[in-house]
Amino acid sequence: MIKKSKGKYIISAGEVGIYAVCPHSWKLKSILKKNYKNSKNDNIKMGLALHKDWSKKTEDIHKLSIKMAIVLCLMFFSVSFTIIFLGDKFFPNNKVLNYIGYHKSSGSFFKNLLNDFKDSVYQIFDLDIDIFLFVILISLALFVVYFAGHYIKSRYDASGIKEKSTLLAIDGSKILKVKDYISYMQGISGKPDAVIKENSYFIPVEIKPLARKLKDRYIYQLLVYMRLIAEFKKKDVPYGYLILGPKSKRVKIHNLPERQKMLTKFLNDMNEILEEKKDAIASPTKTKCEKCDVSKYCQYKAC
Ligand code: SF4
Repeated sequence: MIKKSKGKYIISAGEVGIYAVCPHSWKLKSILKKNYKNSKNDNIKMGLALHKDWSKKTEDIHKLSIKMAIVLCLMFFSVSFTIIFLGDKFFPNNKVLNYIGYHKSSGSFFKNLLNDFKDSVYQIFDLDIDIFLFVILISLALFVVYFAGHYIKSRYDASGIKEKSTLLAIDGSKILKVKDYISYMQGISGKPDAVIKENSYFIPVEIKPLARKLKDRYIYQLLVYMRLIAEFKKKDVPYGYLILGPKSKRVKIHNLPERQKMLTKFLNDMNEILEEKKDAIASPTKTKCEKCDVSKYCQYKAC
């Protein structure tokens, strides 16, 4: 629904997406308020359920990463503590220094290789049982860290978010709430599905779990989020991510000047249509009109 505030229309990212498909369908839905929700009800329900599922899984990854960071800190302190209190068992009578000294004075490396190996094995079995336990503990800890890291990475891959990104907000999350951005200055609004931080930039993320391929309307929706975040964070937004389909394929959309120029044209045209200075021009194609949920109200349809 288009709101008017302080004498200016506030056009949402979703509205821009609809307009990008066909200006006339946007007019039918948003200005003439033609009822269309029932025609694609099953798809809408499925999309919402998948969306909710994605939000929950992504929030779980965030929680898991925090738990993992806590475990790593505890392990670090435990290991440091153990080293401090078992440190004297590592170097009794400077064994290590003696061993290095033995190597230096033993002549040809190849000649003494077998003896060196034997001595190393004897030294290992000569070690105190506490040190053996300590080595096993460290090995187990590294094993746990490796598999936990691997598991977290696989969960990140499944969500389409990069492991190195910092999750700042996720739509539907209780702990990482997404801001509903409204710019009275630009006359646009929108709520991305997530906001992440990459290389000190704030990056909007939009998921389309039912999408089979990249569409212009997704790009324009994302471009609106980029504008909003740039205004609110007072920092350039170089790109955004679209996460498409059930396999969460990540597509990077660059914030290019020609794309923003086209978005500006769309917004200017939409405002002029709202002010009844011009009419919305239908852009019928067979594919679009077959999928159009307001086609029954449209006199321009191509099917
Ligand atoms: S039926 Fe086709 S031309 Fe008509 S509003 Fe829908 S997409 Fe546009």
